Amino acid sequence: MFSIINPFDLTFLAEYEYITDNQAVQRIDTAHNSYNKWRCKSLNTRLELVKNLLNTLTNQQKSLSEKCSLEMGKPIAQAVAEVKKCGLLCEYYIKHAPGFLAEKPVNTDAAESFVVYEPLGVILGIMPWNFPYWQVFRFAIPAIIVGNTVVVKHASNVAGCAQLLESLFTDAGFPEGIYQNLLISGEQVKKVIENPIVKAVSLTGSEKAGISVATVAASQIKKSVLELGGSNAFIVLGDADLDKAASVAVSARMQNTGQSCIAAKRFLVHSSVYEDFLNRFRAGVEKLKPGNPLDTATDIGPLARLDLAKDVEKQVDRSVAMGAKVLTGGKRDKAFYAPTIVTDVTTDMPVFKEEVFGPVAAVIKFETFEEAVTLSNSTDFGLGVTLFTRNIDDIKDKLHLFEEGAVFINAMVKSDPALPFGGVKRSGYGRELAENGLKEFVNVKTVYIN
Ligand code: NDP
Repeated sequence: MFSIINPFDLTFLAEYEYITDNQAVQRIDTAHNSYNKWRCKSLNTRLELVKNLLNTLTNQQKSLSEKCSLEMGKPIAQAVAEVKKCGLLCEYYIKHAPGFLAEKPVNTDAAESFVVYEPLGVILGIMPWNFPYWQVFRFAIPAIIVGNTVVVKHASNVAGCAQLLESLFTDAGFPEGIYQNLLISGEQVKKVIENPIVKAVSLTGSEKAGISVATVAASQIKKSVLELGGSNAFIVLGDADLDKAASVAVSARMQNTGQSCIAAKRFLVHSSVYEDFLNRFRAGVEKLKPGNPLDTATDIGPLARLDLAKDVEKQVDRSVAMGAKVLTGGKRDKAFYAPTIVTDVTTDMPVFKEEVFGPVAAVIKFETFEEAVTLSNSTDFGLGVTLFTRNIDDIKDKLHLFEEGAVFINAMVKSDPALPFGGVKRSGYGRELAENGLKEFVNVKTVYIN
């Protein structure tokens, strides 16, 4: 048994029990039986059900977003936006999957040769709490569209969201076993990956969980996709539009109360605009309204769990002990951590070196572009970077310098159904979204006819 605690007031919400290993095996068997039928359905039939899902999503938007706000503290307006974004992903694949999955003729010495994309079987998704719907949709929808079936081990602190997700698929008319919630603990995951029926695994979460999952998957020669942490730099060059840069910086760091892998975490600011940018950034951060996640006026909620808020507090405190200065914020009240800007940061401090999964911006001044590139790359992570500049042509020649999965110019790094999403270095491997994401869990089959 485990309890879910509302991070806003630390009150009890609900109690759940993990299913047993045998029950998990039964669910995986069900997924396998469904797979044998699902893979034979036409792509059109599968997409018709995704269209139904769009309707159920809209009809259940209120209950979905409220559950998310209660369980992990997301401000309700952002929870509603997350549910809507799941709909955009469905629309994107309804429109583009037929083209992406079409048989591809290739000119060779054969009379005829072509490539087809076939499903792999039952795929395990291990999902995090920070975007409890969006992360699941971007894993499950492409996997299901290509003809796989999925079992989802969601984060324990959003077990209610996980149940609602399973109901969504049932209510949309998906046959039994296409999408199943697997209410298991992290320790039970190994056996699931080792089950011969399970063909691949996708994890979004911490590096620790990623190492554990990828190790087991490798021991079984099964594919894994890992979407782990990030510590994106947000670089403000001397010629940047400072009003725009500061306002985007606030969202890039503080959205979802700072709990996003692609959030800007390290702010590298050219010395010529340092004070001007910082004043604007600080003003924006101080305007944010913390409060009850269910209140539509709330910008900043609690962190998703009390232990996560304590972790963020320790990272800031350790950095301050090493000489960092708190410009604003820097205080914890239960699971709330105040929106914080830390200056005088050096590269050996936790707020620079580690991923800080909360509303804390670490700021560093730089003198030359080369220095900014070096600082940006001075991290184990490689998800994305933002650059603010008016000289776009100049920057376009320098994109190769950044060891990242994405470069966003004059915009915050964000996920978009039409753009591949994923990282390099210790941020993981594989891609979600776009055509790449649709083809992560397929058998790319070569056909050669003479
Ligand atoms: P975890 O990585 O522990 O949780 C993510 C998912 O992995 C959950 O479903 C969790 O299940 C599961 N999990 C945990 N350990 C294992 C394991 N050994 N084998 C298989 N599955 C496992 O993240 P936390 O919730 O502890 O957050 C800690 C940090 O992780 C954050 O501060 C942040 O740095 C990073 N993180 C990154 C995310 C991202 O978007 N890239 C998302 C969430 C966290 P359960 O909940 O049951 O433990």
